[in-house]
Amino acid sequence: MDIIPLWYWLAVFFALGACVGSFYNVIVYRMPRGISLINPPSHCPLCKKHIPIRYNLPIVGWLWLRGKSACCKQPISIIYPIGEALCGILGALSLYAATGFTLDFGAPVLDVEIWGRALGLFWLLLGAYPVCAVDTKYKLIPDSISVGGIVAGLLISFIPGGVTPLQSIVGAVAAGGGLFLIGWTATKILKKDAMGFGDVKLLAGYGALMGVTGAVETLIIAAVLGIVVMVPYSKINADKGDGSGQIPFGPFLAVAAPFMYLWGEPLLELYMKFILPE
Ligand SMILES: [Zn+2]
Repeated sequence: MDIIPLWYWLAVFFALGACVGSFYNVIVYRMPRGISLINPPSHCPLCKKHIPIRYNLPIVGWLWLRGKSACCKQPISIIYPIGEALCGILGALSLYAATGFTLDFGAPVLDVEIWGRALGLFWLLLGAYPVCAVDTKYKLIPDSISVGGIVAGLLISFIPGGVTPLQSIVGAVAAGGGLFLIGWTATKILKKDAMGFGDVKLLAGYGALMGVTGAVETLIIAAVLGIVVMVPYSKINADKGDGSGQIPFGPFLAVAAPFMYLWGEPLLELYMKFILPE
């Protein structure tokens, strides 16, 4: 561990991210068609032949085959390797950002805190993609990301340096509970559903990952982003009373969360200096 340089770990994180991207490709293809994710194993959608593992490697498989299937020579969309490469970049970015964007690529990564932060960011960055895609299309947030975030946050809190396990639990309960109360109150006042329970679970996960303060900051930034995007959008796309003008809140939370995870503390300090000048 203590001699392996950063650049090597960045390659590992890129590969891990690309594997997650490859898994997303499988989900995106199979879920809407009602095919199980694990069974049948990887097969060609056209000629139904089994695909050997070496062609299933993210990015490499596509390049190896030069974008054509090995079995029936049909073109494979370039969208697949591009999605895998983007997820790979997000994976490498989570470690690189956790080091504070160091320029010393040859140095080993010794600080345990960096590893904890890298895992948290990996979760946030790669989880943002399904939250944005699924919430926009189906108006729901997958439990594997929201509830999974609570579990991931609690597990990562045992790595020294970030939030403690107690802060993680308090963060999940306070952030989820707080947003639930806000939504419940708004629903009573507006007499219509103001907040989905998916958002509550998602924010609870962010609370578990970054504590109460980080979750509150994420909520505030997401709300500001939401208003900035929503106001012009709802003017163009007026709600026809069927909910078509309704905008999901999950993507705004998912975009705000990694930034607040990284820069929430300095941002809060800056804000405090601004409102309480000495
Ligand atoms: Zn085929």
